Amino acid sequence: MIPAIRPMAQRPAVSLVGAGPGDPELLTIKALKAIERADVLVYDRLVSEAILKLANPDAVRIHVGKRCGEPSMKQEAINQLLIEQAGTGQYVVRLKGGDPLIFGRGGEEGLALAAAGIPFEFVPGITAAIGCAASASIPLTHREMSRSVTLVTGHVVSGALPAWAQLIGAGQTIVFYMGLEQAREIQSGLTLGGLSTDTPLAVVIKGSTPDEVVHVSTLGKLTKLGQIFKGQSPALLVIGDVVRLRETLNQSLTSDVDSMDTPKEVFFG
Ligand code: SAH
Repeated sequence: MIPAIRPMAQRPAVSLVGAGPGDPELLTIKALKAIERADVLVYDRLVSEAILKLANPDAVRIHVGKRCGEPSMKQEAINQLLIEQAGTGQYVVRLKGGDPLIFGRGGEEGLALAAAGIPFEFVPGITAAIGCAASASIPLTHREMSRSVTLVTGHVVSGALPAWAQLIGAGQTIVFYMGLEQAREIQSGLTLGGLSTDTPLAVVIKGSTPDEVVHVSTLGKLTKLGQIFKGQSPALLVIGDVVRLRETLNQSLTSDVDSMDTPKEVFFG
């Protein structure tokens, strides 16, 4: 049988590109090439200035995220903007934090472009859970500790309640995006669902950037942490036994202990 010949892929008019969690070095090569080639960059709040600097200085930059308390552009208006810009024949790069398809509404934009008959592509990025786990030294699925990792949006908490019972189970790691604002609901949902208040938890703020903050605690203190870190953004919650490994894996933490019998300058010199 003669294999089917696939038609040559059309060059996309729009690329929906994941910019990763913040560190420009965590961009994929494909994302970098798209950014460098873009005529128009449509980006939101989570895309760092360091990444925007990689674009051609002549490229048009359009910010569609929240800024100084102003609401962000409505999704429908962003979809329309992408269609209009692509219609002018310019190459449009829609840059999103993390991965465009993980709580990034990339699917909605893709559907709008498809309906308008505009060729587009998705370029994946390192999603916050993966980027923050690496920089905070938390192995999300460490063998014998965790068999699965669930990515959950904190946003659904106030509307449709997540099925808490399904999130809880031995050997399960849970990562909440947009969860800090819903700290109280998450703490009560998970504990009423049967998860121990002693379950280790990490809050990672601005993960993978020079301003990263990692705070390790337990589920029982989540409501309090929500108050302490109120307004800090972006923030991710990692819940599960694997959080315990950070202490051993993170060399900047262990170096304090090791330095007791090691010349200081080796570590701090
Ligand atoms: N598409 C993105 C997620 C967008 S939703 C991705 O794949 O990562 C926005 C949420 O992502 C934030 O509220 C926060 O929970 C999380 N987030 C994104 N970047 C982050 C970072 N550098 N550090 C901590 N959390 C981050």
